[in-house]
Amino acid sequence: MEHRHLLPNEIDLLVDGDAGFGVAPLRAHVAECRECRERCDELRLVAETVEALPHFTPNLRFADRIMTQVQVVEPWHVAATEYAARFVPASTPMRLFLGAGAGAAALAISGSAAWLAFRGDLAGWMASLFIDRTRQTLVTGAGEVAAGALGADATTALASGGLATLGLTSAVLALAAIGAVLGFRRLAATARAHRS
Ligand SMILES: [Zn+2]
Repeated sequence: MEHRHLLPNEIDLLVDGDAGFGVAPLRAHVAECRECRERCDELRLVAETVEALPHFTPNLRFADRIMTQVQVVEPWHVAATEYAARFVPASTPMRLFLGAGAGAAALAISGSAAWLAFRGDLAGWMASLFIDRTRQTLVTGAGEVAAGALGADATTALASGGLATLGLTSAVLALAAIGAVLGFRRLAATARAHRS
């Protein structure tokens, strides 16, 4: 027989009336040790008292009331997916329509970005051409001034086109940012409403 007191899980086994292998030495210890016997008796008393309490089912909304007090920490991607799922319409035609709209918007944004990059290159190329021409004009005389001016006009037009695209892209980005801020505010308001 080991010369140590019983562990809580061993006392549990005795109180539950477990008849498994290894319970006999525990019983033998309890028979000899007053301290462990008292602990067993106390636990048995608690178990019997709890068992004697009237059994009743909690109110159906009990769990809901508890959960309104609990701050559930969701991983951000779960929260984001659930929030996004609320905007997906239930009917298939509307889903297709929305999907097509989102695809078109994505295409437009990436297309305008690519176009902006291309126009930027083109504007740079035109500018260097213009500088070359101006230099040439200075060397060869007034006959080339008209061509230089044409080059200047074209460069200016291209540059302003790039600026317009830049403006458009910035506006789209700003709208997206405002949308995100409004979305987060709504999310926060919903969370508050759930808590209160
Ligand atoms: Zn003991």
